[in-house]
Amino acid sequence: MNKIQMVDLHNQYLKIKKEIDDAVINVIESCAFINGPEVKSFQEELQNYLNVKHVIPCGNGTDSLQVSMMALKLKPGDEVITTTFTFIATAEVIALLGLTPVLVDVDPQTFTMDTEAIKKAITPKTKAIVPVHLFGQCADMEAILKIAKEHNLFVIEDTCQAIGADYKFSDGSVKKAGTIGNAGGVSFFPSKNLGGYGDGGAIFTDDDDLATQLRYMVNHGMTIRYHHDYIGVNSRLDSIQAAILRIKLRYLEQYNKARQESAKKYNELFANCDKLTVPYIADYSTHIFHQYTLVTKNVDRNALQKHLNDKGIPAAIYYPIPLHKQKAYLDPRYKSGDFPVSEMLCDSVISLPMHTELDDEQIKFIAESVLEFL
Ligand SMILES: *Cc1c(COP(=O)(O)O)cnc(C)c1O
Repeated sequence: MNKIQMVDLHNQYLKIKKEIDDAVINVIESCAFINGPEVKSFQEELQNYLNVKHVIPCGNGTDSLQVSMMALKLKPGDEVITTTFTFIATAEVIALLGLTPVLVDVDPQTFTMDTEAIKKAITPKTKAIVPVHLFGQCADMEAILKIAKEHNLFVIEDTCQAIGADYKFSDGSVKKAGTIGNAGGVSFFPSKNLGGYGDGGAIFTDDDDLATQLRYMVNHGMTIRYHHDYIGVNSRLDSIQAAILRIKLRYLEQYNKARQESAKKYNELFANCDKLTVPYIADYSTHIFHQYTLVTKNVDRNALQKHLNDKGIPAAIYYPIPLHKQKAYLDPRYKSGDFPVSEMLCDSVISLPMHTELDDEQIKFIAESVLEFL
């Protein structure tokens, strides 16, 4: 059996090695390292894939969220509602810009923002909602858009874990995750569903004016060469990453399908276990399984993780601490127990290896090792 990894980037690379190697060498020979033709081509191909008007490449997923808030002209003191059950980057950029993160709990099935909780969190200072499409499944965007419209709020989708997921509206129309709100930010960190071989990110929007502002923001607030009308940042996707991402974008659907197949196999193997809840798939979204995350019940989760590690199976806890309990984010507005679903999830979730190269033998061994412990 091949060595089991949380994410198997090396075996994935070997299957497309020639294409990748040629693309990287081409960029090096062209010496167009920054804003070269590869970046433009990737941008256009991603626009086509997502069916969105504008893709603005940037340096990483964290920046994609930060520059979205900057381009939307959010100001210190503005409140931004997001989830307490997410990766820190979501709240970090809100705090860094002097905005006030307002946290809400998540739905116990989808792990995405509880839309009733969003309604309760709105104040006259609220300016934006940042839903996170966690683990590869969309937040309940139709409900979120409705709330945003009623209260005149921006919606910035954290799509870092869900590129390629489809959101289905009740009228039957379908949009790609990240193209639904005012802006969507994505990360091309190597382990993401569309990952480069280094850092990278992008923002998606259908709004022409916002796209213009976003392009200024990622490039030092520069409107005309050396004319800086805004305070921006330096956030670029480099050409080598773009060349690699162009190739991997062609495989993204196939990669996401492979993850879905693996998830299905895990689900079957866990079907009769009452100590585990397998990932729920909402009827409004596809799930592209950035993570395959189980909720354990009456299980010593940390001992389970150790048991798996001892057998050579990596397993991870995404996430062990909700944002409102993170040291740097402690806030008198929030206390332990305020977000019971997120707190329960932090204590009970465990994510199993999930990537494009998992084979049946590995999945069976992983699942049997989990069941053997329970
Ligand atoms: C990965 C991730 C980010 C940050 O992306 P980087 O490219 O690492 O900056 C932000 N939000 C979520 C939910 C993520 O998973």
